[in-house]
Amino acid sequence: MPTYDFDLFVIGGGSGGVRASRMAAQRGARVALAEAAELGGTCVNVGCIPKKLYSYAAGYAEAFAEAPGFGWTLSEPPRFDWAHLKTQRAKEITRLNGVYASLLKTANVTLLNGWAQLVDAHTVDVDGTRYTAKNLLIATGGTPWVPELPGREHIVTSDAMFDLDPFPKRLLVVGGGYIACEFASIFNGLGAKVTQVHRRAHLLSGFDDDVRQFLASEMGKAGVDIRLSSEIDSISRGPGGLNVMLARGATIEVDTVLFATGRVPNTRALGLEAAGVTVDEHGAIAVDAHYKTSVPSIYAVGDVSSSVQLTPVALAEAMVVVDALFGDRVRKLDYEFIPTAVFTHPNIGTCGYSETDARAKFGKVTVFCTEFRALRHTLSASTERTFMKLVVDKASDRVVGLHLVGPDAGEVVQGFAVAMRAGATKALFDSTIGIHPTVAEEFVTMREPVAG
Ligand code: NDP
Repeated sequence: MPTYDFDLFVIGGGSGGVRASRMAAQRGARVALAEAAELGGTCVNVGCIPKKLYSYAAGYAEAFAEAPGFGWTLSEPPRFDWAHLKTQRAKEITRLNGVYASLLKTANVTLLNGWAQLVDAHTVDVDGTRYTAKNLLIATGGTPWVPELPGREHIVTSDAMFDLDPFPKRLLVVGGGYIACEFASIFNGLGAKVTQVHRRAHLLSGFDDDVRQFLASEMGKAGVDIRLSSEIDSISRGPGGLNVMLARGATIEVDTVLFATGRVPNTRALGLEAAGVTVDEHGAIAVDAHYKTSVPSIYAVGDVSSSVQLTPVALAEAMVVVDALFGDRVRKLDYEFIPTAVFTHPNIGTCGYSETDARAKFGKVTVFCTEFRALRHTLSASTERTFMKLVVDKASDRVVGLHLVGPDAGEVVQGFAVAMRAGATKALFDSTIGIHPTVAEEFVTMREPVAG
């Protein structure tokens, strides 16, 4: 039997890598983790966490505007201090980096700060020092991708949005996905004049069509200038800012251009070829249902290999690997009914199938929809509305799609996701007592299907 320095060597200290390292070490494995930057990866440093903090910051603008309807008088107009928010965010992220480090230390994981490259099926080089391990796990995540275009050097990606200096009074966001919609909403709330340009006729490809249209209408009402079926030709710097030329001839002058046009797996300079690890047609590391790569001793999880780029999915994939290597369970992850939220204003929360996808998969479906002004807005003077939709498989009565555009949609949908994974039927929804008065209760009181 060959002897190795470690039982598991993890490359990448983001969500998937840290979870796998800690859990494997807690089960007695000798684990090393190599990370060249701060611990926590995209989620902690330039993704979910700072984004949600900034989303809260943007939410105060709405709260201030709504407060007079409830009897509050603001003695002075509220002022927003961008520098303060950035400092507070940076402090919190540094605290979290430290929490990750101490979790790894407590679990006895050997933390190597440096750039790791595969040498062969069992060897990794970290800045000139070689380590061997029985198994290797690649969890290096992804990075923003930007198409080639004239003036590309003037744009920023989501990585830079948290520390922009100065605050962009005029922001152009390119793209219609999660990141584009979230940043458009956030910076609109923080007081920027935001224009969002998307090449399709609707935002958020893959989401339910009603949700896509409803969100665009709400974001538009909130002040985002959404230009659909539109593309960018070129960007140049002029005396007053960046001049963005749209494909149809219009020019927009802005301070910052954010390209949120998707993310690609971080596979560069990892030594994949040297070790014989293959990638798929999207450049992601090819893995089987157990996250094993083309080299049996090397695994990959999270954004570097997964088509579902969500932190909780990376965590779940990491646990499948740890359970197989150091536990007593070999199992497969079920990717159906993964709930997700988009932290726009208002939020989207969704679980299961869009109406279109449900029709394609199940054939006959019944659809229930409601749209209303939430109780809060009867006094707030806000014109924001809420949209909810259920898609039910006619044959089984199972609720296969649940969609909400409204306040705290992610919080609401998380609980319903449990019921949906348990196979809850519409009859079960109907027999569940609502919590009154809430937005969520509408999901158990929708009785009349929409026509068709
Ligand atoms: P997405 O894939 O969600 O969106 C990319 C957007 O860019 C799409 O609207 C796409 O258009 C558009 N696009 C792609 N190529 C071009 C091009 N050449 N020119 C113009 N537009 C283009 O990626 P994101 O970067 O927004 O996010 C990556 C992933 O990260 C998400 O899919 C999600 O899984 C995850 N994420 C999750 C969050 C959450 O859970 N709240 C938050 C942020 C990210 P088209 O519709 O035509 O494809």
